[in-house]
Amino acid sequence: MSEQQDWRQVAQWLCEAGSAVAFTGAGISTESGIPDFRSPGGVWSKSQPVMYDDFLRSAEARREYWRQKCESHADFSAARPNAGHGALARWEEAGLLWGVITQNIDGLHQDAGSRNVLELHGTSRAIECLECHRRYDPGPLVKEFLATGAVPACDACGGLLKHATISFGQALPPEVLEEAARRSRECGLFLAIGSSLVVEPAASLPRLAHAAGAKLVIVNRDPTGLDGQADLVLRGSIGSVLEGVDRLVTEG
Ligand code: NAD
Repeated sequence: MSEQQDWRQVAQWLCEAGSAVAFTGAGISTESGIPDFRSPGGVWSKSQPVMYDDFLRSAEARREYWRQKCESHADFSAARPNAGHGALARWEEAGLLWGVITQNIDGLHQDAGSRNVLELHGTSRAIECLECHRRYDPGPLVKEFLATGAVPACDACGGLLKHATISFGQALPPEVLEEAARRSRECGLFLAIGSSLVVEPAASLPRLAHAAGAKLVIVNRDPTGLDGQADLVLRGSIGSVLEGVDRLVTEG
């Protein structure tokens, strides 16, 4: 099929499904200037992530964690939603899409206007005390760390402060995970967008949806392990693919 025919097929499924769900990974935000993890030039080509247990146990690991977070803070703060985020928000507004299950922590779906957003890995838009759960705006704390090199502590209880994101080795919030699984099982169309579909639950949610009868569409530049199970795989840039589908949805 040609690219246009692929877009038309997705537009048709979207209009027919009644209950589509989008699942997004770091790839949807690269066109907003936030690097993904696994592509060349991505975060992992520069530094190794700090494991949650190490963060809890070691002052040195906490310093490295804060160094990495402060390094990416500028990219995250400057980023604006792109055409891909915009299309998903419009489909939700039009009642074609329930909403978005995302692995991303950048808040760009909400900025684009998406209302139903399940953040599996939390958000980088807040810093939370691991003891009393008081939340802080990241801006001033990042500034403080960059100026002093000292890892900040909670004003209220002195507890450890960490971005409200899920680190490697840290459990995902069970209620968010349960709702993501339910939405995946109940949808008629599952759009997996910009994820290598390697880590859990990214690897299993599309499978769950497909096994329950949903059509599975994968939009990703590189091949994924689930391509063989998908009803359709689209390889272009996410912004242009979703914009192309959106145009056909709007034309009817
Ligand atoms: P990943 O890095 O493993 O995979 C991203 C995929 O997107 C790649 O396979 C790549 O081919 C594809 N891609 C990148 N840009 C694309 C584009 N413009 N068009 C089409 N395809 C494109 O990402 P993942 O599966 O989401 O796993 C990484 C983890 O890292 C996530 O759990 C997430 O929490 C975290 N993360 C989040 C952000 C963010 O919030 N923006 C950024 C980096 C990492």
